[in-house]
Amino acid sequence: DVRHGPILYLEDVNVSFDGFKAINNLNLTIDDGELRCIIGPNGAGKTTMMDIITGKTRPDTGSVWFGSRHNLLTKSEPDIASLGIGRKFQKPTVFEALTVFENLELAMATDKRILPTLTAIMKPEFRDRIDEVLEMIGLKQLRDKPAGILSHGQKQWLEIGMLLMQKPRLLLVDEPVAGMTEQEMERTAELLTSLAGKQSVVVVEHDMGFVRSIARQVTVLHQGSVLAEGTMDQVSNDPEVIKVYLGE
Ligand code: ADP
Repeated sequence: DVRHGPILYLEDVNVSFDGFKAINNLNLTIDDGELRCIIGPNGAGKTTMMDIITGKTRPDTGSVWFGSRHNLLTKSEPDIASLGIGRKFQKPTVFEALTVFENLELAMATDKRILPTLTAIMKPEFRDRIDEVLEMIGLKQLRDKPAGILSHGQKQWLEIGMLLMQKPRLLLVDEPVAGMTEQEMERTAELLTSLAGKQSVVVVEHDMGFVRSIARQVTVLHQGSVLAEGTMDQVSNDPEVIKVYLGE
């Protein structure tokens, strides 16, 4: 087993928007190398939780740690990103006029750690990383095609690839299979499960079939707190979870 203790640790986190408690004493631990799915009805606080991890939303109280060394509440959004936390939003935002290869190259170049030496992107090790990522996301055959011709699913994988260029330690993925065909969903399941172990992956997803196909551990959020945690079989048989989903 590749796990070595928590990579992400949220303790007693609270967030209110104009007096409304969007996050209510949230406690969450993600182990290193884990693939975790977060589910829950609309308004459960899933997006707000992701925003807290990336530093977009600041909690009123509580603690948020990345590994044992980084208190994320003291860090800016760009600093949190450069610690190795990548976020994939639902809508793909690839550069359609650029080739698949150039999109990946650009993902590397926008890394401020290498910006001072722009010629560095020509370095063989970066080319190697692009090849490695192309292999991971299954777009090797399309490397020289403009991203604009890719299918919806392929664009999503390219965007995950762009995040992977910088070898993040934690990937946050927002509804990865929305709008995908059955086949694309299967390919996405393979991709995300292959990433786990090398990095930690947290997926917010509504499609229960997809969640069942990838997750070993599922966290159910409800009214800003953890309602249940366990395997998909455990949480889907939990009376509290059934009540929340059927009562929606
Ligand atoms: P989910 O992603 O699980 O659907 P959200 O995190 O988007 O849930 O929202 C949790 C609750 O907080 C919702 O009731 C939502 O209306 C509220 N909320 C989220 N962001 C804001 C905001 N910026 N201002 C006011 N209310 C918000």
